[in-house]
Amino acid sequence: MNEAIFENFKNYLRNEGLKYTSERRLILTEVLKRRDHFDADELAAEMRTEGLKVSRATVYRTLDILHEIGVVNKATLGHKHQHYENMVGRQHHDHLVCLHCDKVIEFVDEEIEKRQEEVCKSLGFEMKRHSLQIFGYCSHCIPLVKDNKIN
Ligand SMILES: [Zn+2]
Ligand SMILES: [Zn+2]
Repeated sequence: MNEAIFENFKNYLRNEGLKYTSERRLILTEVLKRRDHFDADELAAEMRTEGLKVSRATVYRTLDILHEIGVVNKATLGHKHQHYENMVGRQHHDHLVCLHCDKVIEFVDEEIEKRQEEVCKSLGFEMKRHSLQIFGYCSHCIPLVKDNKIN
């Protein structure tokens, strides 16, 4: 299965006139190991601690390419920058994001998915993808937030 992903990545790069470098291949390898929500800087830093030489710019650019070919999902999870997650072998899902502890809870709701498709259809819009993030406080943080009067 992963072989097909590397092949697809290579073909995409070729079509875009970009080189399939060892740096890009390493980034894809690292991404496929991840099972969490991460940002580009975290990935770059972790690769560097593993002794892998990658430039920050290449990590950013490569994650965008991986998003284009559907390997990663991209979402703004409570911070101004983007988070990514490996979507290989995973189903589409939406996120609840805690503004206090940054916890991310994943969920799938068939009704929400269906309604979104209906809205697009009724407006003559062809959906390519969507991303839904709900921001608030998790059950653990609700009492903490109340006590501290944070909002
Ligand atoms: Zn929380
Ligand atoms: Zn997720």
